[in-house]
Amino acid sequence: MEFETERKRLIQTLRRRGISERVLAAMEKVPRHLFVTEKERRHSYEDYPLHIGSGQTISAPHMVAIMCDVLDIREGHKILEIGAGSGYHAAVMAELVGANGHVYAVERIPELVEFATANLASAGCTGVTVILGDGSLGLPGLAPFDRISVAAASPDIPATLTDQLREGGKMVIPVGRFYQELYLVTKMNGIKKEDKGGVVFVPLVGEHGFS
Ligand code: SAH
Repeated sequence: MEFETERKRLIQTLRRRGISERVLAAMEKVPRHLFVTEKERRHSYEDYPLHIGSGQTISAPHMVAIMCDVLDIREGHKILEIGAGSGYHAAVMAELVGANGHVYAVERIPELVEFATANLASAGCTGVTVILGDGSLGLPGLAPFDRISVAAASPDIPATLTDQLREGGKMVIPVGRFYQELYLVTKMNGIKKEDKGGVVFVPLVGEHGFS
């Protein structure tokens, strides 16, 4: 009950930042307090990142909101997320794609695959599959994807990932080492990229990430 009030307050804050009503409605449905550790739970609805163990973080709510808005996620989309972490961002995207869509979330740290899987189950979210692996390689067996959401900082825009986008598909990806520019990449008669502003993410570690 207390969490519900706090969640509503957070949604109001995000509304003032200009987030779309569609993304706000999805975020209102996902209980962020079920995606954080016991130690951080009282901060669940503050608009900043929180530690989730293994040196990683759950992104700040406004960052999840902006990335979902920029990606223009529609009902029925098949989405690849790279960096499942807590599973929260994937759960919000699962609300946006609805029962006819699905989110495949790749995570390289086994403990976080377990954490995300357990969090999604406790939130009753069935629209996400968490997969252990190096997300910088994508998931070629499940491609093409309508949307790709990269939640870790990449050295560049890997062709392995744009290759796995459907024609007309979009990817959001932070590019840079210590701080990043968030790019929206659209695959339509080639690859177009738009800079959506400065962000800070943990590094993408993998074959097409940082070593
Ligand atoms: N989306 C998450 C936040 C992710 S933080 C959430 O909602 O909580 C970034 C995550 O990317 C970390 O968990 C990190 O372990 C993971 N990561 C980094 N490099 C990766 C790679 N190559 N493949 C898969 N996951 C990766």
